[in-house]
Amino acid sequence: MTHTNEVSRRLSEELARSVTGPVLLPDDAGYARESAGFQLGLRHRPDLVVGARNAADVRTVLRRAAAYGLPVTVHSTGHGMRASAEGGVLLTLRRLNAVAVDPVAATARVGGGATWDDVIAATAPHGLVPPSGSLGSVGAVGYTFGGGLGLLARSDGWACDHVRSYTVVTGDDEEREVGPGDGERFARLRGSGPVPGEVVTEMTVGLLPEGPLQGGGLAFDLGAADATGDPTPLHAFHEWTLGLPPELTSALRVMAFPALDVLPPHLRGRRIARVAVSLRGSAEDAEELVAPLRKAAPPVEDTLAPMRFAEYARVHAEPDGAGAFIGENLLADTLSPTALGTLAGPGGSQMVIMNVRHLGGALARPAAVPDTVTGRDARYLVAALSQVDPDISVPAPAQAHAQAGPARWLEPFAPDRVGVSPAFRMGPGTA
Ligand SMILES: Cc1cc2nc3c(=O)[nH]c(=O)nc-3n(C[C@H](O)[C@H](O)[C@H](O)COP(=O)(O)OP(=O)(O)OC[C@H]3O[C@@H](n4cnc5c(N)ncnc54)[C@H](O)[C@@H]3O)c2cc1C
Repeated sequence: MTHTNEVSRRLSEELARSVTGPVLLPDDAGYARESAGFQLGLRHRPDLVVGARNAADVRTVLRRAAAYGLPVTVHSTGHGMRASAEGGVLLTLRRLNAVAVDPVAATARVGGGATWDDVIAATAPHGLVPPSGSLGSVGAVGYTFGGGLGLLARSDGWACDHVRSYTVVTGDDEEREVGPGDGERFARLRGSGPVPGEVVTEMTVGLLPEGPLQGGGLAFDLGAADATGDPTPLHAFHEWTLGLPPELTSALRVMAFPALDVLPPHLRGRRIARVAVSLRGSAEDAEELVAPLRKAAPPVEDTLAPMRFAEYARVHAEPDGAGAFIGENLLADTLSPTALGTLAGPGGSQMVIMNVRHLGGALARPAAVPDTVTGRDARYLVAALSQVDPDISVPAPAQAHAQAGPARWLEPFAPDRVGVSPAFRMGPGTA
């Protein structure tokens, strides 16, 4: 037995007696399942994985791992992991998923591993909504570390603007409520996230009134997936965003669909531009605001309709299954028509899903309490997401990056770059 194995075996025996969650060594059943997260391009191989059930478990693991000299890596859902946990202790937070709503104060206390779906389920009965994003399986706390670009971002601002405090635990047995009075530390957590050894066991976040909402997507056919397409809907999206009120949040997604029988005929083998729309307002407001888009080109799919916030998934209509993927992005102050046109080019976005999120509105507000968010001065976030082969990406992240090449698809937009969002840098090789 190696020295490391002996150390981790002793630590595992100690932790098995003192924590309530599972404590698993590599040969134990359930080790791989406990270690895995949403990002399948990273196969974590810690010496020991511990699933925390409560804040006391987190404190114990951090304290004892420090005493044994073992590093601790943390994930809640694994959506945002950028490197594999190799050796040391992997602490999983998915069981810290309690959510307690105070409907009078319009706040929620959210466990460090709760997903936005957990939060939405708790807030919906009170007619309140959290500043969550396109996908409910993302961890609520981890999302705020990158600022948090929500479904209602342009009307309600960055998710981290709504964070009132974090409960932070560290290896030296400190447990502290970190809030606006904590200067640099609170600013760093909201926009950059924790430093190694800091774990957030709970967050208090402000909630917003639900109010009338419209949401859905308009899909436009740019042409055959393997040919030069018609960029008219892309330019129409750009011009449309220049005159929108902050109540309307939108995003453009361009992807080429394979010619597979399982797909609906209007998507099969086509390059599709889909505009996701969410609006704080009435159905009449939606009709009026979206009219220029519908006029520019006939949509092949149009699902915009009144919705409850809990139906958020219809807005971005993203698949919600774990996968191996790499995401890169840039923040831009303008969208050049030439760069946009490349998304309709042959092979322009094949194998890569391009997303353009419209920023501005409340996202451009100066922070009431200092933070480290990048993007307040940007007008658009342009993100490229590529699926990668997990068998390549696990042993060789650099190779996975070359294979997927998301950065290449961002090149035409580079002259207008004003920054990069840490939240949309995803997967192996992006750490
Ligand atoms: C499909 C998809 C859709 C997305 N949509 C959006 C969107 O609409 N808007 C947006 O802003 N972002 C979005 N993101 C980005 C997402 O916010 C980031 O990937 C974020 O890091 C995910 O946090 P997580 O806790 O789920 O992931 P994890 O991988 O579990 O955590 C991410 C990082 O935060 C750390 N961490 C997480 N929780 C804690 C904690 N409690 N204490 C200490 N450290 C912690 C982890 O150690 C890790 O380094 C999306 C990502 C994906 C994959």
